[in-house]
Formats: sequence, C-alpha cells, structure tokens
Amino acid sequence: MKMSKLFVQTLREFPADAEVVSHKMLARAGYIRKLTSGVYNYLPLMWRVLKKVENIVREEMDNAGAQELLMPFVQPKELWEESGRWDVYGRELMRLKDRHDREMCLGPTHEEIITSVARDGLKSYKQLPVNLYQIQSKFRDEVRPRYGLLRGREFIMKDAYSFDIDEAGLDKEYENMAKAYKRIFERCGLDTKMVQSDSGAIGGSVSHEFMVITDTDAGENDVFYCKDCDYSANSNHAVSKLPEAVVDGKDYFSETKVIDTPDTHSIEELSKFLNIPDTLILKSLVYIVDKKPVMALIRADKAVEETKLMNALGGIDIRIASSAEIAELMAEKGFDAVPGFIGPKGMSDIAIIADETVRDMKNFVVGINVTDKHLVGANLCDLGIPEIKYEDIRLVQRGELCPDCGKPLFVTKGIEVGNIFKLGTKYSKPMNAVYTDINGKTHPYVMGCYGIGISRTAAAAVEAHYDEHGIKWPLAIAPYHVIIVPVNIKDELQMKVANQMYEDLKAAGVEVVLDDRDERAGVKFKDADLIGFPFRVTVGKTINDGFVEYKTRETGEQEKYTPEQATEKLINIIKAV
Ligand code: ATP
Ligand code: MG
Repeated sequence: MKMSKLFVQTLREFPADAEVVSHKMLARAGYIRKLTSGVYNYLPLMWRVLKKVENIVREEMDNAGAQELLMPFVQPKELWEESGRWDVYGRELMRLKDRHDREMCLGPTHEEIITSVARDGLKSYKQLPVNLYQIQSKFRDEVRPRYGLLRGREFIMKDAYSFDIDEAGLDKEYENMAKAYKRIFERCGLDTKMVQSDSGAIGGSVSHEFMVITDTDAGENDVFYCKDCDYSANSNHAVSKLPEAVVDGKDYFSETKVIDTPDTHSIEELSKFLNIPDTLILKSLVYIVDKKPVMALIRADKAVEETKLMNALGGIDIRIASSAEIAELMAEKGFDAVPGFIGPKGMSDIAIIADETVRDMKNFVVGINVTDKHLVGANLCDLGIPEIKYEDIRLVQRGELCPDCGKPLFVTKGIEVGNIFKLGTKYSKPMNAVYTDINGKTHPYVMGCYGIGISRTAAAAVEAHYDEHGIKWPLAIAPYHVIIVPVNIKDELQMKVANQMYEDLKAAGVEVVLDDRDERAGVKFKDADLIGFPFRVTVGKTINDGFVEYKTRETGEQEKYTPEQATEKLINIIKAV
C-alpha cells in the first residue's frame, strides 16, 4: 500500500469528546470515525486490525473444536418471550417494529436464537457436545456509551454457546474455553487476568471475566486480587474475610432508648454527634429491585455492593431509591422520616436483607423512621422484625483479607475483554430445548456461553500499548507490519531502494506501506508513530553509504542495516508471528 493512496486522515488534535487513550489515539490516527453516539465507522486501518483479532479468535475457537455460524442481527420478540427476557431485559434492548407491526429487537446477545437453532438440530445425545460460535455486530442501547470502542452501542462480539448432556460435560468445555481464551489474548499481545465474576443479566451460576489490567479510567471494573494466592474477582462478586470485630455498644449506652439526634443526616455527622465509632451504627438503605422497594442493612463502616444485593433477592435490575421514593415508602408505612433517620422498624412487609456484618452488632444505633431521632443501645430484637435474612452484600474494600489465604487484598482497574459463563439449563428449560438420552428420555441441554468483545479487545490493546507519540500495536494485530519512509522522494537512489524493499517485502507476504508522499520527513515520522507501525525503515542520506535505518516502535531502538539485511530481518520476524 502506498501512503498517498491509503484512506486515512490523521487529525492534529484529539477529538473533544475522547476521554481515554484508545479513543483519542484511534480517532486521531484515522482508525475510527463517529457516526452517532456509541456508533463508529471502522475505517480501513481499523478494519484490518479487527479482522486480525477476529482471525486469531477464529483460529483458536476452531482449534478448540467449536464451529462457526452466523445468526441474524434482527431478532423476533417471540423467542425473547419464550426465555422470559422480553419484559425484563430493560432499555439496553433496542426494540423496533416491522411494517406488519411485529415486534423485533436488535441482537444484544444471542442466547435465544442459538437455543432455537439447537433445539431444531440437536435431538439426540449422540450429537452432543457441540459448541457453536459467531462473530458479529451487536447492538445495546447502553446508558453511557463512552470511551470510543470500549463501550459502544454497536460493537463486534464473538459469542459462543456450548451444549452438553450434563454438568460434567459443561465443566470440561468451560475449562477448554478458558484455555482457548488465554491463548487468544496472549496472541493479541494482551496480558489478561481471569477473575471470578457475577453472571448478570445473562444469568447462570459460575462465570469468569478476562481482564486487561490498567490503572486508567478505561478500566471500568474494580478487580480485587491476592498477591499470595491466585484469588481474584470483580468487585461485584468479590468476598473477603472480615477481621474479627466485636461490635458492642455497652460501654456507650447503658440502656435502650430513643434519643434526639438533630440534623445528623450522614453517618459521619451521627458518629460525631454521639461520639461513637461508625462500626456501632446500623446503616439502612432503600433500593428499588425489579421495581419494588427493599431495605439493605449493613454496618455503617461498610458499603453495599448492589449486584450482590440484587442477586440475594433474585432480581435483575437494581438502583438506589430516590428521596421521593423514600418519602413515598415512609408515607405508605405511616412514617414521616427523611433519609438519615430511616430504619427497618415497621418495614417487615418489604424485603429486608442484612449483611453478614450486622450479625455481630450489639447495643448499636439505628434509625427508627422519625426525623432527628435514633434508637441507641438497640438490638435487632428491639425492632420487631420477625425474620432477618443474612447475606454477603458487602462491597469489599482494599486491605480486607483474602477469603482463600487470609492475606490482604489489593485492588486494581480492569477492562473486561471476554467472559465465560456456565448457563446450565437457564435457557434450554424455558425454551424446551431438549435432547433424547440413550433410554429415550428427554432432558434440557446443559449450556455455557462465551463472549469476546472483538472491537473492545482492539481498543484494549491500544490502552496497553502506546506512548505520547501514538499507538504501539502488537505485531499480530497491527494493521500493517512495516512502513518504509524515503526521506526525500526526489532523491533517485532513496526512491529506488525504498521501492525495491517495498516490492521484496510485499512478495514475501509482509504487510508494508511505502510513504511516497512529498512531505517533510518529520511529518512522515510523526504519522508513522501515531498510526503505530511496529517497524519503520527510513531510507535517507545514509543510503549513500549503503545503509537504511531500522526502527522498532515498541522499544524505540534504532539499528543500521543494509537494505537486504533489513528486508531479511523483517521477513523472518513476520514469519514467526
Ligand atoms: P460490560 O460489563 O462491560 O457491560 P457485559 O457483561 O455486558 O460487559 P457480555 O454481555 O458478556 O458483556 O458481552 C461479552 C463481551 O462483549 C464483553 O466481555 C465485552 O468484551 C464485550 N462488550 C460488552 N458490551 C460492550 C460494549 N458496549 N461495547 C464494546 N464491547 C462490549
Ligand atoms: Mg453490559
């Protein structure tokens, strides 16, 4: 490819809406162009990168025994009704109607479709196990599309679905996929951590995510990990050993009584006013889970992890209640308290979940749904709640202890590039997708699903490999391997050598760009660094002594070679990829 012909417009500045490195660099270097919020054109350079990521994924999935197919992007409502997800999926699901008023959606994921494909084709145990995958665009009307390709509305995903006769088969395939994923990300030049995670709206029980660790905002997940053993988990799933703590207010309160606590709206204000540690306060929070109010109780020095709370209730949607919703709840129960004074008293007809930290609390302080008052020296039996359900709904904090080995946990940020789920019969059962066993009895398939964000992986590679000058693509997914830069295109010798190298490299299968533009060398070098070619060969004045300059983008190392040596070296390196 000649640079003069390459369809690429580099920008002088980063786009104003770009917050993270990959978005800034990919937009400025001419890889992507925004069409509308969360929707991008993949320009030729980007498309080359995406195809390389896809091909690595394809090769490893095929090697792992999976088979590729392609399912439609537009999906009929009926299948989503069969699985029970049409009503609960929420606003990420982009719904539309056709000319006959039939309801459809743009595929955000394909469990329903693949399950219908399987039940039509997989009838006998003899046909199982099977793993089917596709590489395709998905659409999710994300609340906050941002960070360019990292969180788009339209994006490319590889999604695979496995069908087994039993759990043991699923366990084996899950391991098989975990291994394939490790190889895929390694080949893409990405260091990933496989962490335990919540299985979210897709459902199922066990799941793991593959995280690219990054200390920037691009990492939307908090990952807790132990340096002494291999425990690591997404914060939405992480657990910890709490240090033994006896929380008893007997030294502060000699009796159980209601006292005035004016204007103590926050835990800090309350603990200051009463001169007590926050571990003596029971915090009561109201959430809306699947449209219903619920109350979460937790020791006030700790925070609630919403996903854990939602799972404890078997819900699929959660948010904190607004002050208006709290006021409404109070009015309904005959109270008149503002946030800060809320408590479980008189709330026994809504779901109440107490975190494990509440178990050991004695003679504590709690809101009783009266503004400017608290009950002190209280115990749960004083509050008239017949039954408390205890669950771990706590957000783990840095320094808490590893649940496996007891050493301190560390936290870092991660970009989720892929995940694997054990779905079990979550879809096959309601959709009546069954196989017949050796005795002629039918059973729902035991399923797994396995996703990789193709476009997110490419962007994550930029987050992991760049410097102030631009992208440093890992060789395996770079749009081109090498750029040849003749310093002065009017110099006959320089052009002759550059052209010869260009032809030789092309003939050997090296993906090469010749910068034949009549630009200053500085401009060409800047573009080469920004676009991120792994190698640059400069043909300048030193060619008069028979040498070209050979530069490795990753290390910045510059070497002098004859054109033949440089060509040979490049061919050998690229052969090894
Ligand atoms: P996230 O928690 O980041 O929203 P998810 O749990 O919704 O991800 P899945 O539904 O399991 O993700 O999708 C599989 C893969 O698709 C993810 O691991 C991620 O790499 C990619 N992906 C998901 N949502 C997006 C998005 N909005 N833009 C780009 N890639 C995405
Ligand atoms: Mg999501």
